Amino acid sequence: MKIAVVGGGPAGLYLSILLKRQDPSHEIAVYERNAAGSTYGWGVTYWAGLLDKLRAGDPESAAAVADASVTWTDGLAIVRDERTVHRGDAGFGIGRRRMLGLLADRAAALGVEVAYEHPIAGPDAPELADADLVVAADGVHSVLREAHADHYGTAFATGRNPYIWLGTSKVFDSFSFAFKETEHGWIWCYAYGFSGERSTCVVECAPGTWTGLGLDTMAEGDCLALLEKLFHDLLDGHELIGRDRGAEPAQWLRFRTLTTRAWHHGRTVLLGDAAHTTHYSIGAGTTLALEDALALADALRSHPDDLDTALTAYGRRRRAELVSAQSAARLSAQWYENLPRYMGLEPDRMFALLGQRHSPLLPYVPPQLYYRIDRAAGRLEALRRLKRWLGPRLARATHRV
Ligand SMILES: Cc1cc2nc3c(=O)[nH]c(=O)nc-3n(C[C@H](O)[C@H](O)[C@H](O)COP(=O)(O)OP(=O)(O)OC[C@H]3O[C@@H](n4cnc5c(N)ncnc54)[C@H](O)[C@@H]3O)c2cc1C
Repeated sequence: MKIAVVGGGPAGLYLSILLKRQDPSHEIAVYERNAAGSTYGWGVTYWAGLLDKLRAGDPESAAAVADASVTWTDGLAIVRDERTVHRGDAGFGIGRRRMLGLLADRAAALGVEVAYEHPIAGPDAPELADADLVVAADGVHSVLREAHADHYGTAFATGRNPYIWLGTSKVFDSFSFAFKETEHGWIWCYAYGFSGERSTCVVECAPGTWTGLGLDTMAEGDCLALLEKLFHDLLDGHELIGRDRGAEPAQWLRFRTLTTRAWHHGRTVLLGDAAHTTHYSIGAGTTLALEDALALADALRSHPDDLDTALTAYGRRRRAELVSAQSAARLSAQWYENLPRYMGLEPDRMFALLGQRHSPLLPYVPPQLYYRIDRAAGRLEALRRLKRWLGPRLARATHRV
């Protein structure tokens, strides 16, 4: 089979590895518009379950990803000046550039052609002309998807709050949050390590806080200096690192949640962020993109002689599997958009409800009461069952996908 993959992000590279392993006679080319080693973003998080799936898909790249990752078990929240520590589950962080480098090396070692600085203009590009399968792994702004946006049923919902994705020289050993109250409202960030030298730091606030503090017009250097001052107790005097934009405004964005109804069109199939995005605050987009690749490789193996059936089965399976992550992502984004609702609680209670932000019940129950029910549910099996029963029903009723 001749396979053209557009986009050398985690989804496209990992799929090329899986398909080449599945059948070394496949001719696979990955076209990436950026130069090798240049990518957006800092580190990304994932949780232990992903490594098991990666090991099943390709033990070599799974081992390389595990070796290049850092891990933590604790959570820390600084609310105003008060620190609360929560002993939690193991989380992992890996530099985005490092992960892409590992996946690209593995793909090349298996015989995949990875072509950098090679943008694909659209579905009619000559590079795609004789491919049996075209994979649109070209991210949220996918040109392949946009060319047939009606067919794919593309829909975007833009989040209310501005956010900025930064690096820092402080190396965090726990997943850390800081919430600061300013005269223009709350501003908060979360940070986690992804290497021995760097951590990721994502900052977010309500639009009124953003304009009130002047962050909407500030040059990047001034913006970083102000954020370093606001979060000095979290950063311990370390610097925040942006995109080196000098006097240009910093790159604040509003998150766009993408959903699509159909995932393939003829021989072209959507993968990863080209098909769906989930709010960054659940830290799942890369995991979901890699799981898409595993599911697509599976479907192609199960239906070797019927591309349409394979692509239909893949889309159906992944749309169903994604429902809970999409619901969690919406609820998580809304939790932050409604932050003042939770900031009157004692910091340890606020932190406990931050951990519950995916709950479909939480928006409907006063936070103090929810906290008490949740504590009691931890002790009483009947209440826990009621929570489990009611939660998904409310989620389905409020988020029809
Ligand atoms: C602030 C923030 C924090 C995040 N944190 C996490 C996290 O902690 N954990 C997590 O799992 N996920 C996180 N994510 C999400 C994650 O970054 C994405 O979900 C993931 O990168 C999707 O992978 P992908 O391969 O589908 O797309 P991408 O990584 O976007 O890759 C697409 C690739 O296609 C290339 N491309 C685009 N158009 C063309 C073209 N026409 N021709 C050739 N190449 C093209 C691009 O250059 C890019 O390299 C975060 C996202 C944001 C915004």
